[in-house]
Amino acid sequence: MVELVEKLYNTGNLTDEELKQLIKTDDNTSAELLRKYADEVRRKYYGEKVFLRGLIEISSYCKNDCYYCGIRRSNKSAERYRLTHDDVMKCAEIGYELGFRTFVIQGGEDAFLNDDFMCGIVSELKANYPDCAVTLSLGERSYESYKRLREAGADRYLLRHETADDDLYSRLHPQEMSLANRKQCLYNLKELGYQVGAGFMVGAPFQTTENIISDIRFMQELQPQMIGIGPFIPHKDTVFRDEKGGTLELTLRLLGILRLVFPKVLLPATTALGTISPIGRELGLKTGCNVVMPNLSPVEVRIKYSLYDNKICTGEESAECRNCLQRRIESAGYEIADERGDYIG
Ligand code: SAH
Repeated sequence: MVELVEKLYNTGNLTDEELKQLIKTDDNTSAELLRKYADEVRRKYYGEKVFLRGLIEISSYCKNDCYYCGIRRSNKSAERYRLTHDDVMKCAEIGYELGFRTFVIQGGEDAFLNDDFMCGIVSELKANYPDCAVTLSLGERSYESYKRLREAGADRYLLRHETADDDLYSRLHPQEMSLANRKQCLYNLKELGYQVGAGFMVGAPFQTTENIISDIRFMQELQPQMIGIGPFIPHKDTVFRDEKGGTLELTLRLLGILRLVFPKVLLPATTALGTISPIGRELGLKTGCNVVMPNLSPVEVRIKYSLYDNKICTGEESAECRNCLQRRIESAGYEIADERGDYIG
């Protein structure tokens, strides 16, 4: 195993068979070596910097019915909300004061978030905060829509591909959704000049090691600037309520592998990782991660943006979240960077 880690570190790639071995093993020596090399590579390109992304969860309405997600449309118990234009501006104002230089606006696929409404928000954010990046994460939209949002000033777009395997994709999503369209959206976003984030859940129901290798291969082709991975965590009101969640160990192993395959990528230590372990995000940072995404949503709505059970940071004010993360980042041996944190490619 150690030789495989050495090879990955030296060449940035492995064969499918080698990746399979490295992903499946539970050997501690290789885990520790992966962590060490992942940290070395992130420090080579980003030093001790950790970039903050202020997450504004704009709507919990969604027309999709992804089997794993707590805000899927057929979850009748989900409380729905949507923020107004002014709510978003207020969150950003608080975030800017707290030092955030990237705002991420994420939501369900809600028809209310049409182009006019979203372009209004994006252009006002860019006008008020010209030194900030605006990232959108609003699911699948048309080429024209992505184009208008880009012209309004959006810099980045997060759209996890969820899985690069057609068969697994269709076991996680209803028939009306397709992997082909998801991939097309990612390529459209790239063509339009967005910095793009892809990614998947670790330990999603039915996911095999081969599926994870397909994810890595797909991303080697796409070359996203950001990669979001976090453990799958079951939600009590979904089809997958009784499934097992993804593990800390596998998530960290994959984060280490991703850092070595994509040396310069922006890699968040996700909220889901912090949810399955109290020190999940710290361990993520020590294993190649260089981004964290504190919540900037108004406290009243946080619990309603419930993608999975026991999500952390639903009760705190934005300032508390930021201070808590600062402590965690510093305790892990890194420092918050007061900049937009663009891809250095
Ligand atoms: N509607 C947007 C935002 C989706 S929510 C979009 O389609 O991109 C952001 C991410 O949360 C999803 O891409 C998914 O990978 C993750 N997620 C959803 N349900 C989850 C769960 N039960 N456990 C862990 N992650 C989950």
